[in-house]
Amino acid sequence: MTTNPNSSQKVFLKDYQTPHFEIKSTELIFDIWEDKVIVTQKSRYRLFELKPIYLNGSNLSLLSISQNNHLLSPNEFTLDTEKELLVLSPMEMEFELLIKTEIDPYKNKSLEGLYQSNKYLVTQCEAQGFRRITYFPDRPDIMTSFLVTIEADKTIFPVLLSNGDKVNKEEIGSNRHRVTWQDPWKKPCYLFALFAGDVGNIKDCFTTMNGKMVSLEIYCDHGKEPRCHHAMESLKKAMRWDEQVFLREYDLSQYLIVAIDDFNAGAMENKGLNIFNSRLIFADPKTATDMDFFNIESVVAHEYFHNWTGNRITLRDWFQLSLKEGLTVFRDQEFSADMTEKGVQRIKDVDTLKEKQFPEDAGPNAHPVRPESCYSVDNFFTSTIYEKGAEIIRMMRNLLGKNQFQIAMNNYFRKFDGQAITTDDFRKVILEDSGINSEIFQRWYETPGTPEIIVKENYNETTKNYTLSIEQKNNIFHIPIFIDFFDKTGNKLSILNKNIQINSDGEKFIDLKEALFFLQLNDLASKPVISFLRNFSSPIKVTWERNLDDLFILANHDDDTFNRRESLSTIYIQLFSRIYKKAKKDSLTNLIELVHADQDLLFQLKTFSELVFSCIKNQNLSAIVKSKLLLFPNPQIILQNVKALESDLFQKIECFLKKHIVESRFQEIKSYLLMVKNEISILESAPAYDFKMAAQRELLNSLFELLCFTDKNEDLLTLLSELKIEHNFNQEINYFKFRMRLLSDTKKISEMNSFLKKWEHEPLVIQKWMQVIADTNAESTFELVQKIYHSEGFNIQNPNQVYSLIRTFGQNIYVFYSKESHWDFYLEVIKRIDLFNPQVAARLVSAFQISNLLSKEVKTILSAKISLFVKDNKLSKNTYELLSKYEVLFD
Ligand SMILES: [Zn+2]
Repeated sequence: MTTNPNSSQKVFLKDYQTPHFEIKSTELIFDIWEDKVIVTQKSRYRLFELKPIYLNGSNLSLLSISQNNHLLSPNEFTLDTEKELLVLSPMEMEFELLIKTEIDPYKNKSLEGLYQSNKYLVTQCEAQGFRRITYFPDRPDIMTSFLVTIEADKTIFPVLLSNGDKVNKEEIGSNRHRVTWQDPWKKPCYLFALFAGDVGNIKDCFTTMNGKMVSLEIYCDHGKEPRCHHAMESLKKAMRWDEQVFLREYDLSQYLIVAIDDFNAGAMENKGLNIFNSRLIFADPKTATDMDFFNIESVVAHEYFHNWTGNRITLRDWFQLSLKEGLTVFRDQEFSADMTEKGVQRIKDVDTLKEKQFPEDAGPNAHPVRPESCYSVDNFFTSTIYEKGAEIIRMMRNLLGKNQFQIAMNNYFRKFDGQAITTDDFRKVILEDSGINSEIFQRWYETPGTPEIIVKENYNETTKNYTLSIEQKNNIFHIPIFIDFFDKTGNKLSILNKNIQINSDGEKFIDLKEALFFLQLNDLASKPVISFLRNFSSPIKVTWERNLDDLFILANHDDDTFNRRESLSTIYIQLFSRIYKKAKKDSLTNLIELVHADQDLLFQLKTFSELVFSCIKNQNLSAIVKSKLLLFPNPQIILQNVKALESDLFQKIECFLKKHIVESRFQEIKSYLLMVKNEISILESAPAYDFKMAAQRELLNSLFELLCFTDKNEDLLTLLSELKIEHNFNQEINYFKFRMRLLSDTKKISEMNSFLKKWEHEPLVIQKWMQVIADTNAESTFELVQKIYHSEGFNIQNPNQVYSLIRTFGQNIYVFYSKESHWDFYLEVIKRIDLFNPQVAARLVSAFQISNLLSKEVKTILSAKISLFVKDNKLSKNTYELLSKYEVLFD
């Protein structure tokens, strides 16, 4: 018999009901002891209707409950432990509720509610962790003011933090002290936070646009303070940027951040007290990668931006999660673009979207940006809600242009400040109030799956007429498609037409809202080259057998950085697909013979190789642009175009293509790399991290990676040691990665061990080490992953370690899908983690996302395995909800 969740536990958007009460204020007292915490809650309720109220509570021991100083006896309320509810039937419209509970944060391994990390106590309440602290209506539309008092031992917990402003601090005897925090802003309980522990900190301050002084503090393990400065600088940049771009000023006198090691996600935007995964705070060039530096700046900014988009204006219910996440991701992407380079940032964001969100949208767990039902709201923290949600905001911006969008955003802040609202409210104020009918646009929120369009073009040499046709498949969406035109020599053509719209920034676009669209341009001297979907103006898939000559022109001349890179990628994918189809059709395995038998293909390959080399040599291109242009589509992206995962053939084609591109230029690329290395070495004398330096390193690494396909392992190992840069961790971890790739299996082990020995005292570095090993494309990878998993040093309760080793292994698709035993291992790990941390277990399920693209036989085996696993185990509703979708896999 199955004991998994049943459909009665499902929650639906359509069942949403406006609360019939409000909570005017809440006081919390946390009495912290060595083995327990006593939580006293005093809340003032005001009912609008005399009806029962439901308070959520999970894993709590109820000590007492009183209403207006009257202690309630058990027959005066209902405690439904199954549904985790406390039901009260009040007799008065206004009353005070006093609830005492006991909790044990020391045994809480779910990392939700109040829990222990190292020697600290810390909270995570989003989405529904507050119910693990006290009985409370745990829903985002109940906003109240919080007054929080924390009492604890002075030696073990010298630092006691909560939201808002510190209003009192006193000694209470027996080596204990008491601190009180008051948050002047009403907030839902998911934004509540508390921290207690013995930590160090760094301090700074920020003067807001209206001259208000804000004290900024970052708390961390003693000794790690120097690693927090990059995060602090990032915070100040974000605060200034939000004032300049969105006119948003910070609204408390303190802004606190705490870095901890055990955290299910990246960070949490609790009002005035952000809790961060330490990997997103600690940065030191000796232990952090360039990506870490970038991510820290971006995530610190993201959490800060939530103060307005999420905290001041919050969600009516969890189905509206994208209201705050989509918008805040959009804001952090814009911030990063301003801090680095716009086109390059766009490439980065779209790569993430295509690698994570597109497969999610094509897999069995596809869901709308505003979902309609779920078992667990924890499962909503997805790439669809975040990244696709951000794309929807970007499309609105594209339709309006920057200026009009800013005006609409100001209206949004003015109209909804202090409220809990829906994505519909947002869409209406941004589009409808700006005069744009958003009836069709709304489908972006309601419909899962990536919209697809089919494009065709034709130029008639006799009539000199050009036509472009666009057809929408399946559903009809409102899609802004930015376009521009070039001639064959790469000069821009100024073409105007009634079917080409222009937004307030002067950007040309096709405002696609129908199933079929035609654009006809007359009297053109020659066929124009259209730059289509510039800057990826909508998150769609385009089917278009494009003329390679046009793509070569765009790859050389397009002034839209995103499309220039896209043209290069499209050529690569087209060449890949052509070779794949030929190999399949003729059952050919010798790719050299296959390509040489096709003169046209051979010619295109040669042209492509020259194009790549001209990019490398092009002095007008910055390193940061080059580093992106030379990054070819990874297996995930190839898989979306060649819709069948055949690992062996894929790898063969990838090797063949990349080898072909670089082999004849090996020496030239080698000397170019040595030149880049010298430039970096000169730059290295400058101390702090800089994105331009990071770009040089990225270029160096991506070019070296290309060279790895030449199989000249001995030469490459020599070159690698010549390229070695000391005292820079980014290069050190890449050096390790390349050596793991180039060395024989026997030598890999000692390479691994010596790296481990050098860094075993640095947990964040060890996580990188696990990632490299789990990501290596080699037969020995599984064995090494298992070895680490079973080793003493591996802590399964730490999410960072699980993600680094286990999730990375699941994403290493060539290796992961090569053997059944890999899935057995992976499912066993999920099972083990699900017992104590369902959120982390559920996040691992995404490894199966691409299983729809496996061959029929493999699919049958995998789905049978998952089906049996789901039946045999009692899973949490988080994991059950996601994994059960793989019990049957369709084509
Ligand atoms: Zn967020």
